[in-house]
Amino acid sequence: MPKRLAELQAREEARFAETHPRSRELAAQARESLFEGVPMHWMRKWPGGFPVFVADAKGARFTDVDGIEYVDFCLGDTGAMTGHAPEPTLRAIARQAAKGITLMLPSEDALAVSEELTRRFRVSSWQFALTATDANRFSIRLARHVTGRPKILVFDWCYHGTVDETFATLEGGAVVARGGNLGPPVSPAETTRVVQFNDVDALERELANGDVAVVLTEPALTNIGIVHPEPGFHDALRELTRGHGALLAIDETHTICCGPGGFTGAHGLEPDIVTIGKPIAGGLPAAAYGFSERLAARLAGTIELEDVDVGGVGGTLAANALSLAAMRATLGEVLTAEAFERMIPLATRWTAGVEAGIAESRLPWHVTQLGCRVEYLFGPDRPRNGAEAHAAGNFELERYMHLFALNRGILLTPFHNMALMSPATTEAEVDRHTEVFREAVLELRSGAGT
Ligand code: PMP
Repeated sequence: MPKRLAELQAREEARFAETHPRSRELAAQARESLFEGVPMHWMRKWPGGFPVFVADAKGARFTDVDGIEYVDFCLGDTGAMTGHAPEPTLRAIARQAAKGITLMLPSEDALAVSEELTRRFRVSSWQFALTATDANRFSIRLARHVTGRPKILVFDWCYHGTVDETFATLEGGAVVARGGNLGPPVSPAETTRVVQFNDVDALERELANGDVAVVLTEPALTNIGIVHPEPGFHDALRELTRGHGALLAIDETHTICCGPGGFTGAHGLEPDIVTIGKPIAGGLPAAAYGFSERLAARLAGTIELEDVDVGGVGGTLAANALSLAAMRATLGEVLTAEAFERMIPLATRWTAGVEAGIAESRLPWHVTQLGCRVEYLFGPDRPRNGAEAHAAGNFELERYMHLFALNRGILLTPFHNMALMSPATTEAEVDRHTEVFREAVLELRSGAGT
C-alpha cells in the first residue's frame, strides 16, 4: 500500500475505534458466540476492523448503537432500495402477519403481484422464491430440464448469488473457479461457459457448441462496478440465443434501479426468463422468476405431478403469504414510477458531484450512473467488460474511501464503490456525500499521491 494511503487508513481506523465504543464492545462479545464475530460471514468486509451495530433505520438513514446517525447509500446492497421500513410495506406486513404468515396455499396477493410483475417485466408466467439466488438457481434448473442441454453461459465477473454454476471466471481463455469460491462441487468448466460482456464474437463461438441451455446475465453488470452494454449488444444477445436454441434469462435484481420494469422494461428487452429479488418486498425475503408465454407453454406438462415437490425446485417458505403481501404493497405503493422519477435525478446529482471531485483532485478515476445506482471506479475509462472492471479494482483504496465516508456519517456498500438512491433520499444527503468525497480525494492528493 502506498505510504500516504497507509497513513490515512491508520488515522481513519483509530478515529473509527474511538468514536464507536459500543459497537466495539458488542463486536468483542460477538466473537464469543458468532463465527468470526459476525452473524453473516461477509460482514467481516466492512472497513474499520468491526462492523457498526445498528439501533434503528428509517428511510435513507440509520442510527448505530453509539447514537451516530448515517445517511445510507448502501441500502442493504439494494435490499432496502425502497428506503428502510417503508410505511405501506409495514402496514401490509402487520395486517398479513396477524392473519397468517405461511400457509402453503395461495392468497389473493399472489395474483396481484404476478399481474403487476407482468405489466413491468414483459414476461407473463411467474413463480416465487425467497432469494434472488434461488430464483436464479431454479431458472437454471428448469432451463436445463426443458432444453435437455447441460451447460449455462455467463459473463466474466458476473454475480447472481451463491449459484454454483455462476462462480466461474476466465483465466487465459479457460473457465476456472472464481477466486475465493469455497468448496466448488465440480470444476465450473463442466457446467459453465464464460465469455466477456459485450463480446459478441465470443458469445457466438461459445453458443455454437450447441450445449448451452440458458444465458444468464444482468442486462448491465453491476457487481464488478457498473458495466454498460454497448449499443447493439442486447439485440445480438437475443438474436444469437434464439439462433442457437439457448434461453435468455435476465437477472433484474440490481437493475430494477433503471425503473419500475428494470432495464428490461426501460429498454424493451425480450427475455425468456426474468429473475428478481432483494427490494421487491421492501427487504423482507422474497424473489420472483417469470417465464415468457412461449417458455411457459414449453414447460407446461413436462413436470410430473407426483414429483413436483421433490424435483429440485422448492422452498417450504417460498410464496408465503407474508412475503406476497409485502411484495404487493412495495410494488404498488413504494417502488412506483413516481418514486423512480425522484430517485434517478438524485443519482444524476450524485454523479455530477463525484465527477467534480475527481476533476478537482485530478485522480484518474471515473463515475458511472445506471438509473438510481451510481458507482465510481479507480480507472480513467468506462470498462467494456468484467475483466477490465476487475483490473481497475483496488481493495485498499476502496477500504479507505469507505471508512473515510463512514467516519463522516455516510454508508457505502462494502463491495466496490456503489451508492443507491431511495425514494426517501434527499438532495441535501447527496450533497453531503459530495462534500465528504471531495475531502477524501483531496486528502489523498495532499500527500505523496496514491
Ligand atoms: N442477482 C444479482 C444480480 C445480485 O446482485 C445478487 C446479490 N448481490 C443476487 C442475484 C443474489 O441475491 P441474494 O443474495 O439476495 O440471493
